[in-house]
Amino acid sequence: MKKIWLISLLFTTLVWSAGTAAAPKYVFFFIGDGMGVGQVQSLRTYYKDTDDPDRSLQHFYEFPVTSLITTFSYDDDMTDSAAAGTALACGKKTRNSMLGMDADTVALTSVAKRMKQAGRGVGIMSSVCLNDATPGAFYASRPNRGDYFEIARQGAASEFDFLAGAYFRDPYGVKAGTPGNVFAEYEAAGYTVVRGMNGYDDAVAANARRILWLDADTVSENTINYAIDARNNDMTLPGMVEAAIDHLYKNYRKGFFIMAEGGGIDHLSHANDAAGVIHETKEFDAAVRLAYEFYRQHPKETLIVVTADHETGGLGMGIKESSYKQHMDYVQHVTASKNAFWSEFCKSINNDPLNLTWENAEKFLADRMGLGSVIPLTTGEKGALMTVFQTSVIDKSASKQHTLYADFDAFTTAVYKLLSTKIGIGWTTYSHTGNPVPLFIIGAGADRFASAGWLDNTDLSRIIGELCNLK
Ligand SMILES: [Zn+2]
Repeated sequence: MKKIWLISLLFTTLVWSAGTAAAPKYVFFFIGDGMGVGQVQSLRTYYKDTDDPDRSLQHFYEFPVTSLITTFSYDDDMTDSAAAGTALACGKKTRNSMLGMDADTVALTSVAKRMKQAGRGVGIMSSVCLNDATPGAFYASRPNRGDYFEIARQGAASEFDFLAGAYFRDPYGVKAGTPGNVFAEYEAAGYTVVRGMNGYDDAVAANARRILWLDADTVSENTINYAIDARNNDMTLPGMVEAAIDHLYKNYRKGFFIMAEGGGIDHLSHANDAAGVIHETKEFDAAVRLAYEFYRQHPKETLIVVTADHETGGLGMGIKESSYKQHMDYVQHVTASKNAFWSEFCKSINNDPLNLTWENAEKFLADRMGLGSVIPLTTGEKGALMTVFQTSVIDKSASKQHTLYADFDAFTTAVYKLLSTKIGIGWTTYSHTGNPVPLFIIGAGADRFASAGWLDNTDLSRIIGELCNLK
């Protein structure tokens, strides 16, 4: 009898300790918006083919557990970021455009909310707007992702501890037709609202318990500067992750949950901007690396999950024009995103008619993009650029290219199409694809994902919840 009792005690202890060892106290959920296998492999190839000093560091795609996840939504083979964010945050398929609700408009409880209910610190951050679909899915429930004012208000009511991003869309309810002020609502809910690169230091100095940290709004309200355009005084995704770790580790003995979105990967993939996407994915990699450094200090208690909500652009390595050849080294010579090229070059040259010459354009292309200098141009390619410069910039007769986040003139479009071709990257669409996206995992509980085969986007928050014994 005594023996049986001992054995059963031993068995219970073993099961319990195995469960405890695998229960991650610190959970990181990184979402590269639009980051498919092609975007990741392009970064990997870029590191292989260049002398970029970051190449020797740890990269998320080297994590020991990898898989693929399907991304289709309830009603479409190609998901949008709202349905995909809902699936990742809440573990349920829903219709495109719906946020934090199932297909029958029943509000769902995200894994972040369940973490909060379990007494953990929660941080939600994005390089784009905080009330965009991906971050929004973790704290809001709305029938339409475009209900920006309401989504932002629900963030104020979330009781989450650390919120950061570029800005809010419609913070004063103008488009919603219900004038208000979300910043006042955040302050009323106990948030210290800070802006700009030193915002987190200001929040620490103010002894903030809850922090809302937004960019100083230098270039665009819809995104922090893209990594390829980054200037010294901008907020960055790695900066947000570092601050979130600091704030939540200090204040929560029960552990934390951090969701960080690299939103620019999607924006630049919509624009089919190959060099911009690689720089943006590199920045996302740098943000994950900070979590990896934390994991190295707390290896038995930390879980890092890195994935994407969907693939954008149909990015393919290899194109018809140059079959097996790629030139990832060209990426290092491009110093402007497609958006920055449009605003810096085209607008400035248009404002000064004296600058409006092909010679000036040619010099700009060589200095800022390497086109015609490091990246050689054939006579035919140069002639084609000159022709579109004439019709688009001088005559203004060429039609514009419309993509989800920006409109581009025909000259900008031609320059970036040529750049993709020179680098050796092809695109199938300006929208999202139904391609599966990669999953990379390290840390406590990683094994649970390893044996599960090809996963679906609804599986991740469920597995995380089970690992953390969430209700
Ligand atoms: Zn998108």
